[in-house]
Order: sequence, then C-alpha cells, then structure tokens
Amino acid sequence: MLGDTRSTIDALSKFDGFEWIVISKEGFPIEFKGVDKSKAEEVAAVLEDAARMFEKQVAGIGGKPSSMTIAVEPDSELLVSRVGEFYYIISVKRRYREAFSFLLSKVSKKEHVKCEVCGKDLTFEVYRCPHCGSSIPFIVDVCPNCGANVRIKECPSCKNLVYSDGRKYEVPKSARFAAVAGVIGLAVLVLASGLMMWSATKSVVVGGLGILASLTILYLGYRWGILSTR
Ligand SMILES: [Zn+2]
Ligand SMILES: [Zn+2]
Repeated sequence: MLGDTRSTIDALSKFDGFEWIVISKEGFPIEFKGVDKSKAEEVAAVLEDAARMFEKQVAGIGGKPSSMTIAVEPDSELLVSRVGEFYYIISVKRRYREAFSFLLSKVSKKEHVKCEVCGKDLTFEVYRCPHCGSSIPFIVDVCPNCGANVRIKECPSCKNLVYSDGRKYEVPKSARFAAVAGVIGLAVLVLASGLMMWSATKSVVVGGLGILASLTILYLGYRWGILSTR
C-alpha cells in the first residue's frame, strides 16, 4: 500500500490535522486532495524549487532527511518529502507537524509498523485519542492534539495491548505477581472462613457456600485474565 500514491493520500487524509496534499513528479501534479486542479499545478511548480532546495540541503549536510518544512503559516505548515521519484507536499495543522512528518518518513523509507502479535499493518491505522477524541495515527506515542501519552494501545485486529511501534506490551512481572497473589489469597481466605463457619454451625449450606464463593473468585480471576497466561 505504501508504494501506491492514491491509497497513501487516502490514508493520510483520514487523520485530523490534514489540510491538503499534492504529489508531483517533474513539476506536474500526479495526485492531489483538498485543493483544486489549478492550485495543485501551482503547488507542483513551486515544489520544483523546493525540491532543488531540498536536494541541496541533503547534499550539504550529507544526510537524507525524509521530510522538511518549507513554509510556515500561522496555523499550518507545509511539509515536503521525497518518496522515490515523487515529491509529496502536504499542508497540515501546526500541532500535527511531528505526527505527519513521522508518517512521511515511514512512507519514504517504505517501512511498515506491524503488530508483533498478529502481524496487522498499523502504519496508517487511525486511533481515536481516548482523552480528546482526535483521529490520530496509531504509531505515535503522544497525541498531537492534546499531548496525552498514548504509547500503549489495543491492536484493532487481535485486541492485545501493543506499543506504538507494534511491540507487544507485557504487564510488568511484579504487578502480575501481586495480582495473582491477591486473587489466590482472597480465594483461600474466603474458603477458610467458610470452613470455620461450617465447623462452628455444622451447616452444610454454609460450608458449600464458602467453597462456591472461593471457586467463583478463582473463576473470575481467570476470566479477567489475571490467572491466565495469555
Ligand atoms: Zn488527544
Ligand atoms: Zn494485533
């Protein structure tokens, strides 16, 4: 999907902060979204100059930045990125600059972010920030809109918790041990008090209830994933 300009545009435009995009080759617009044709042609022509600047800078610093800002407006920025023989010029809301720059770097390097557990491609997955409701890239650590930490999320496909880079999130061992010990401890406590009341009252019902309550706690612990090894 990352090689296909049309689907890349469609993917990028799903995120909040997107304003418009023109993809050009040799000064002509190949694909565009959010602008009309004449604006796209104008942008593509301007992009030729920007592209030369870009190449010069690449040669000058000896590195290969995947994207750079070429213009700044009060609320938005123009990012340009070279992807193979194409230039991508994208206008984004300023707050979202980092996020789109990161996405463009993935596009230009043809790098996919995949769920370590199920292999789902998360590169262009939209994630709804639980704090502000913005549609943001799954692969960012911090919400571009509200700044919330969104490093750990549920994979939309397998529902496991994964990091923004697709690695599986492991519940810390100490927390896991405490949770397991807590559940088993509670079950033993309930069972013991049930047995004590049974011996005191000689009522089979009380003893049975104690055993039942204890088993219920163990079952719930398993159901809620505390005692399972998944
Ligand atoms: Zn947010
Ligand atoms: Zn998954």
